[in-house]
Amino acid sequence: MQNAIQRTELKTYYYTPVHCPFCGTRVMGADPVDETRITACAHTLFIAHDTAFEYRSERLDRHLKLNGLSEKEVEECWLREEGGVDAFTDRITLADAVKVAAYAPAPSAYGSYYGFAPTE
Ligand SMILES: [Zn+2]
Repeated sequence: MQNAIQRTELKTYYYTPVHCPFCGTRVMGADPVDETRITACAHTLFIAHDTAFEYRSERLDRHLKLNGLSEKEVEECWLREEGGVDAFTDRITLADAVKVAAYAPAPSAYGSYYGFAPTE
C-alpha cells in the first residue's frame, strides 16, 4: 500500500498564513485587497474547508477520480465520508504529499485544509 498524505496540524496558530512547502508561495491571504483570494502554485493539490473545496487541481481530480464529475457529484463524494473533506483528502497517496490542517478553536471548530505535493 502506498503511503497516505502526511499531515501537519495547526491548532494554536491556526491563523498563520500557509505557504507551499515546496516553493514558498503563500496560497491564501497574499492579496491585501482580497484576503480570501487563492494563489495556487503548481504544487497545490487542494484548498478546502469543512463545507467546500475552494480549489482543486487537475492532478487531484485525476488522482481521486473526480475528473468529469460535476461539482454536485464531487460534493456527494466527500459528504458520504464520515470525516467530510478532511477524511476524504486523507485518501491522497501521491508521493510525498503534505497536508496542512488548520483548526480554529472550539466552539467554532472550523477547519481549513491545504494539500501540496512535489512535481517532477
Ligand atoms: Zn508550490
